[in-house]
Amino acid sequence: MSTSTPLPSEHQATLIDGKAFAASMRQQIREDVLAFHEQHGVTPGLAVILVGNDPASEVYVKNKAIQTHHAGMRSFMHMLPETTSEAELLTLIERLNKDPEIHGILVQLPLPKGLDARRVTNAILPEKDVDGLGEVNAGRLAVDLPGIVPCTPLGCLFLLRDQLGDMKGLHAVVIGASNLVGKPMALLLLAEGCTVSIAHIHTRDTAALAREADILVVATGCRELVKGSWIKPGATVIDVGITRTQTESGKSRLVGDVAFDEAAKVAGRITPVPGGVGPMTIACLLKNTLTAAQMQIEGKTE
Ligand code: NAD
Repeated sequence: MSTSTPLPSEHQATLIDGKAFAASMRQQIREDVLAFHEQHGVTPGLAVILVGNDPASEVYVKNKAIQTHHAGMRSFMHMLPETTSEAELLTLIERLNKDPEIHGILVQLPLPKGLDARRVTNAILPEKDVDGLGEVNAGRLAVDLPGIVPCTPLGCLFLLRDQLGDMKGLHAVVIGASNLVGKPMALLLLAEGCTVSIAHIHTRDTAALAREADILVVATGCRELVKGSWIKPGATVIDVGITRTQTESGKSRLVGDVAFDEAAKVAGRITPVPGGVGPMTIACLLKNTLTAAQMQIEGKTE
């Protein structure tokens, strides 16, 4: 898999096509949703709450609603004004927690100032917490109990399993230690049997650590942080970062946390940005919604 011998100068890493993988996942989920409906007469329902009118968040939640419909599930959008109080938001979550037509609840982050994201996320019943960000699901992941896993690291795991199969004994380095991506990613890789290192903003020599990695997952939000010289020849590189930039012609473009062109000359496999991790996140949200419905109706645990 990974090798210490230099690669030929014409080497180009294999592209990990997250877009195609996510499309096949969505097709499978659609079939599973149909089978679930046939068996139980229940259609999984996802409620998405957006507070305020951040344009990027509006695009994200609309896209989630479209994909939910395409997967054969029901989508319930709650677009609340910027002035919504925490008490009002918690009352809505309480109502959705009790609603038998709703199997998953997602609060789009970030929330406007004055709303405590931790308190709001924790108000969602663990079995409806399809973002997997509440303390119960985070704790279950930490102690290897079944639960709902955050969508982005789950998507990265599916891509890695598809590419590498058995990952036991591989050294995985995760750059970034957020509750949303880095920490759950590290725990998932640990559960796969990897030896895991986590780098963050205070890590002394992230480049040296990265060069040890058979699997390198980068989620920092620092545009093109990881250079080709940081990558062990043949390593598998998963780029979670997304930064929107302007091209010289004034068009907007997405850039990852990995300097793609130079990294692709060294890595064995690499995800592009866009078209790598991004499409997997929504596919995993759909999967988590179906899992949540199965847990609630069938008492199934993942
Ligand atoms: P965050 O800001 O919450 O966390 C960033 C982490 O990176 C922190 O742990 C920080 O210590 C570390 N970090 C920052 N600069 C660093 C540096 N120079 N060296 C080493 N570590 C450094 O961000 P997040 O929510 O985890 O998101 C990270 C990136 O992933 C962002 O670009 C975000 O847009 C992207 N993201 C993408 C998806 C997707 O679906 N593709 C989903 C979630 C997040």
